[in-house]
Amino acid sequence: MKLGIDLDDVVAVACVAYLKRFAAEYSVELPDEESLGWHLLDTFEHLVPRAERDRFRTRTYDGTFFAELETYDGVSGALDSIVNAGHEIHFITARSERRRVVTETWLREKDLLRYAQTVRLKPRGDFIPTARPGAYDPDSSGRYKARVARELGLDAFCEDDPVVAEAIADAGVRVWLFDRPWNRDAEHRLIRRVRDWADVTGIIAREGGA
Ligand SMILES: [Mg+2]
Repeated sequence: MKLGIDLDDVVAVACVAYLKRFAAEYSVELPDEESLGWHLLDTFEHLVPRAERDRFRTRTYDGTFFAELETYDGVSGALDSIVNAGHEIHFITARSERRRVVTETWLREKDLLRYAQTVRLKPRGDFIPTARPGAYDPDSSGRYKARVARELGLDAFCEDDPVVAEAIADAGVRVWLFDRPWNRDAEHRLIRRVRDWADVTGIIAREGGA
């Protein structure tokens, strides 16, 4: 089978790292780690307005953030067993194409780059020109990933973002949605919730990915 794999919050522990930086910068209190999620950022509106949050995002992403991320437990062993079983992997991220060097360098350092047939980043033209600079833009990310999923003829896509997951599923591609505090409402007949990487390799082993 051909498998598309998102990077942030599927391979890389991004949200928790991001919120810790955010909390340190603006001296805000965070809840327990298991309830941390992207959805929390909006709750800081009264302390940190949206425009400042967008500036923080750009500043953070332009810095060392992507280079310093950790991987989720079991990623490396899971990708190894998936590829060894004859399946094909493509990393497909909504990170901007201009972050290719930091992204591929990180994947190489984590010894994950060798598992992927291709690494897809979001081309400039896929951003909505009128969108706020630095803004989180799940709708255009969803359209971009759904298009790539169809082009590659993917059998399944590992994703965490609920808007993106629904766009991919609407395009007729199955999604294995990594369970996160920010995606609990996502539902679709082609979306299947998974706990972790052991869950994904279990599905592939039991069902051949069907
Ligand atoms: Mg993600």
